[in-house]
Amino acid sequence: MTFAPFVLITSTTETLRDLPRVLVNEAYTDAIAAAGLIPVVLPPVSPAVAVAAIEDIAGLVLTGGEDVDPRHFGQAPHPATGTPHAGRDASELALARRALDQRIPTLAICRGAQIMNVALGGTLVQDIPSQHGGTINHDPHRRTQRVHGVSIDASSRLARVLGATSIVTNSSHHQSIDAIAPGLRVVARSEDGVVEGIEASDEDWWMIGVQWHPEELTDTPEDWDRRLFAAFADAVREAGRD
Ligand code: MN
Repeated sequence: MTFAPFVLITSTTETLRDLPRVLVNEAYTDAIAAAGLIPVVLPPVSPAVAVAAIEDIAGLVLTGGEDVDPRHFGQAPHPATGTPHAGRDASELALARRALDQRIPTLAICRGAQIMNVALGGTLVQDIPSQHGGTINHDPHRRTQRVHGVSIDASSRLARVLGATSIVTNSSHHQSIDAIAPGLRVVARSEDGVVEGIEASDEDWWMIGVQWHPEELTDTPEDWDRRLFAAFADAVREAGRD
């Protein structure tokens, strides 16, 4: 019998009806399942448990969510920075570093791309409107609409995967990547210069991080976001054969 590979999907916690719950947007698990993979939701567990959980798992999705605590990149919080989730930060930082060590195929989405950059030594813009300026509202609260253009480096894995160097994406983010971490490279930007895509410099590691939300765009006429999940699934299947 053949089993599709498992993929770890990170999550948050939130109190609903007086009880703290583990929570992840269904769009992520749906998109992963639609790509032929088995989504396994990992709660914000301790770094030791997170590292144990990713053992023998062929892929990782770092999902969107809260602002990353700026203390993890050596800065005091900006007044507009949201309340951090210490347990989630710790869990995902450990997963991101483990993914690098083990060359685990990783799709890092929104906060996930930011966590990856911070885990590997980069920094973030904490509040785009006050610290970056620019001409685009990157958080217009229209998650499923393509609201701004993104230009992609033609030499990147991301461009090959999408089959395009110019796309239009949704946008729902408050932070963005500032100083890029060693071992990563910026491969996509919006018209106002905000970093919208990163990837591993080393071709041996399939790691793409995007600032937009591809999981919300898989049903659109444009096939870019379906292609992203399909390429991730190919990388996971390839890794799972080791
Ligand atoms: Mn954006």
